Amino acid sequence: MKKTIRDYDLNGKKVIIRVDFNVPMKNGKITDENRIVESLETIKYAINNNAKIILMSHLGRIKEEKDLKDNTLRVVADRLGELLNQKVYFSSVTRGKELETFISNLKNGEVLLIENTRYEDLNGKKESGNDEELGKYWASLGEIFINDAFGTSHRAHASNVGIASHLPNGIGFLIEKELDNMLPVIDNPKRPFAVILGGAKVSDKIGVINNLVNKADYILIGGGMAFTFLKSLGYEIGKSLLDTESLEFCTEILNKYKDKIILPIDIVETFNIESNSGDIVDVDKLESTKIGVDIGPNTVKLFESYLNKCATIIWNGPVGIFEYEAYSNGTRGLCEFLGGSNATIIIGGGDSAAAINKYGMKEKVTHVSTGGGASLELLEGKKLPGIEIINNK
Ligand code: AMP
Repeated sequence: MKKTIRDYDLNGKKVIIRVDFNVPMKNGKITDENRIVESLETIKYAINNNAKIILMSHLGRIKEEKDLKDNTLRVVADRLGELLNQKVYFSSVTRGKELETFISNLKNGEVLLIENTRYEDLNGKKESGNDEELGKYWASLGEIFINDAFGTSHRAHASNVGIASHLPNGIGFLIEKELDNMLPVIDNPKRPFAVILGGAKVSDKIGVINNLVNKADYILIGGGMAFTFLKSLGYEIGKSLLDTESLEFCTEILNKYKDKIILPIDIVETFNIESNSGDIVDVDKLESTKIGVDIGPNTVKLFESYLNKCATIIWNGPVGIFEYEAYSNGTRGLCEFLGGSNATIIIGGGDSAAAINKYGMKEKVTHVSTGGGASLELLEGKKLPGIEIINNK
């Protein structure tokens, strides 16, 4: 068991909390504040326990000078202030005298957000490369380190692994919730247990299939990745996504687990994705000039007939290009089914989380992960470095 924020006396202590404020932005405005909202519980706990709170997060990617102004966390500081109903101080620099003075002036219960940790990537990828000196410097700014950025915990960066190596540490409530909900299901699922996989590339999901194929009773495959499986069985897939390098894997896994892996029986095909219109055809009727963009209604019914028997369901990856209305029926149908099911349901982060939210079913499932890549690596059975580094109780 990992130490948590509850294991420390925070009173009067400078507590660095690594949060995940990597929110989507458009024209300088936050378009989805879910990640900020999910961080509030830990931040409020630290405020109520009289800590001096130093928040750190990355936002986007910083490769060149011009990326700086598009990825400033200043707007997040303002929004966080509104959500907390108290002033959130903002340091526009990630190191130096000005930042240190800010911190030494903090009073108990006050909150400071430091500018995007990846500003440090401009000079030799110090944040993303987990530069030793940077992690040590940031750690010197606080007395306790709490990691609550699940979405970055599959990466070893200076702002998680680096700082944690030099301070007493623990996880926050968000990471605790992720682990409490996901680990028991991955390690010891109640049966029958189904995994639904979709999304674009088979290669991204090979690790998950390998880790869960023995534990799962059914693996239901939709999305772009289904076409590489169908191709490996000799079907015409037209201009649909094909992950050539994964063909051999598909053949082998289908041979070995024929009855477990369930593929689409009908699909939506189109000439041109942008047209936002398509036709439903049986899987053996896809035309060589067309692209498969969604699972068809009979596949949704087929998937439901398996899912209806299940006590546990994990879902990662949309089963169609749901960003387009005409190709969203499969993903929407699946979300509606999951919303009405009594099974334990875990939704991997990223696009599946966006979909379950879009179709209003987020509150009706057991857990929606806040991390895309991180949840995928947990499903692969991997250890996440940002969590591994945290001390055990
Ligand atoms: P991933 O990040 O691999 O989970 O992929 C998510 C993306 O896969 C979403 O943006 C979907 O639009 C896309 N996707 C789902 N089904 C298909 C499909 N049939 N063809 C191409 N892309 C798809």
